[in-house]
Amino acid sequence: MMIIMRADARPQEIETVVQCVQRRGAQAHVSSGAERTVIGIVGDTRRLSQDEFIRMEGVDRIVPISKPYKLASREFHPQDTVFRVGDAVFGGAGLTLIAGPCSVESRSQLLEIAHAVREAGAHALRGGAFKPRTSPYSFQGLGEAGLELLAEARAATGLPIVTEVMSPEQLPLVARYADVLQIGARNMQNYALLQAAGRSGKPVLLKRGPSATLDEWLLAAEYLLAEGNLQVALCERGIRTFATATRNTTDINAVPALKDRTHLPVFLDPSHSTGRWEYVAAIARAGVAAGADGLIVEVHHRPQEALSDGGQSLKPERFAALVSEARQIAAVIGRPLAQPETAHVRPA
Ligand code: PEP
Ligand code: MN
Repeated sequence: MMIIMRADARPQEIETVVQCVQRRGAQAHVSSGAERTVIGIVGDTRRLSQDEFIRMEGVDRIVPISKPYKLASREFHPQDTVFRVGDAVFGGAGLTLIAGPCSVESRSQLLEIAHAVREAGAHALRGGAFKPRTSPYSFQGLGEAGLELLAEARAATGLPIVTEVMSPEQLPLVARYADVLQIGARNMQNYALLQAAGRSGKPVLLKRGPSATLDEWLLAAEYLLAEGNLQVALCERGIRTFATATRNTTDINAVPALKDRTHLPVFLDPSHSTGRWEYVAAIARAGVAAGADGLIVEVHHRPQEALSDGGQSLKPERFAALVSEARQIAAVIGRPLAQPETAHVRPA
């Protein structure tokens, strides 16, 4: 449930409510809006009584949250969540572009692609150092050496780094290098990983599990939020259906359906959604038109030689063309491309 404080509630009154919630064994998440403070209550609420709270000083009313996910719901937090990663903005008015190779393969490969996507207008660099491959015989990523290359690419381009973490044990290492932790589709319901990422203090890009419903996905996000990590973005990356012409099926409906249900920024990954570079631009444009807050796109300067996902990777010049199209569609629906001119500055 949510306790809506009166507009003139004093800080001490808010604190008294929070302490009472905690004494009863539940957790209070305070959200201070422009007009009033809302206290979201999660956890074990069996020992809480609405009557007790409604009588407390500064309390206006109590509203139940109908959704199984609480902190992720728009009911709890009507305003969109917006957070900055270096100079990139996740959520809010602008459209944010994350681009780069599927895997970090070598210094020259990563730096060449990083410079190219920055020139094209990307706001953040993606690249996997630990790769969740379907086959144990496929390239598994460069590991820590790949993370070091990502840090070098960040220093050279100023772009913040988005990179995948696959297990709680890996998390301290990956978090030392990453600006945003990617939790991949296969790990969306790895609850130990979600809890560790929630405690890491790092922003998280949470991809949708290949057969996850929106409720399951938002409950996975709830694990991150419940640990106090409010810097969470969601990424639709295609789901498993009976259609075989593409690697996955882009659930474009998920974009407006999520915007309706949650305040978290929503990204679309047209690369894994389609599995074919020929379709990436079309689905990216569809995602922007549907209201996605950003795109994450795989780019490779020599896709035919890529160690993973070459068939769905755009060459840099095609990515540049896509940025221009995305910019035009974003303008039509009244949102700018987020700060292309400041994206080149080194993050603090
Ligand atoms: C990736 O981003 O390279 C990746 C493995 O994505 P997903 O988890 O969506 O398959
Ligand atoms: Mn990939």
